[in-house]
Amino acid sequence: MDLKLLEGKLAELGEPRYRAAQAWRWAARGAEGFDVMSDLPLGLREALTESVPFSTLAVEEEAHAADGTVKVLFHTADGRPVEAVLMVYRDGRRSICLSSQSGCPLTCTFCATGQMRFGRNLTAPEILDQALHFRRRGPVDHAVFMGMGEPMMNLDNVLAACERLPDLGITHRRTAISTIGWIPGIARLAKNPMPIRLALSLHAADPALRSELMPVNDRYPLPDVIGACEAYYARKRRKVFVEYVMLAGVNDSFAQAAQLADILDPRIFKVNLIPYNPTGSQFTGSSPKAIAAFRDELERRGPRATVRLTRGREIDAACGQLAAARMIPAGR
Ligand code: SAH
Repeated sequence: MDLKLLEGKLAELGEPRYRAAQAWRWAARGAEGFDVMSDLPLGLREALTESVPFSTLAVEEEAHAADGTVKVLFHTADGRPVEAVLMVYRDGRRSICLSSQSGCPLTCTFCATGQMRFGRNLTAPEILDQALHFRRRGPVDHAVFMGMGEPMMNLDNVLAACERLPDLGITHRRTAISTIGWIPGIARLAKNPMPIRLALSLHAADPALRSELMPVNDRYPLPDVIGACEAYYARKRRKVFVEYVMLAGVNDSFAQAAQLADILDPRIFKVNLIPYNPTGSQFTGSSPKAIAAFRDELERRGPRATVRLTRGREIDAACGQLAAARMIPAGR
């Protein structure tokens, strides 16, 4: 919901300012439309239904995986594709994975989003409407900016959306922004008062290999990125999560685990190893055995490490698979 548009419309209708807050309270709790907002006058509800779109996004397709993961493909008013994912866990956690851009201008070689055409930055309402879509289906309690796009390249809109997430049930502490290492964004997040978690897509400790996998490493070299994360920690006292996608024969050797452990202060960083999800790239994923060995070697040398649970792979909803293509129609 575009709250600026709503406020403008309410002013035009000569309504008191508190009406916008009233309407937002309903929307944030999962209301399906203005018509159910029973503390707004009936005529006003009708006028708003006529003039303010309830969402800035239209649902194009929805796919459901057996593990409970739901992937939704939306399009914006100007026809840009956007995907978001709901992940449900056995412990009851309901986490949403949000997109910050339609497509992505960066070209990480293993990521499907990097292979599609970049569209544009999403507006704050377009980011929030992804979350509201899932909120209308049930409670949500965690959010990660790990969908399409590089959130730090669109930080104003990402942070504006984050400010509203607690109203949906997602506290800042349960919100994480993942970045390829966009230093100006990391520095800004460190200064922002919201206690949002930082996640860093690292993928290779060796500079030459990292540049090969992620060309953006030439612009923001890893030592400087690590420095920015350490500064974030100094200010926020919140651990930085390192994401490391496991590519067979590329970045999964013992020596590479040692090299990774060398650059990560265990007091500051925690490693999350990500099994590679197929994206049609030249890579194959490391075997579960290789991943476990890499994790053990890391932990032996210092940093805590876990292996990410893969969700929604059969509907191309897993990490790195969002490309607004090959959707399986909802099976219900
Ligand atoms: N641009 C930001 C936000 C997207 S997060 C970032 O890269 O951090 C998406 C996460 O999925 C990143 O950690 C990314 O490196 C990872 N990823 C990309 N392609 C993947 C793949 N094929 N398999 C597993 N993880 C992948």
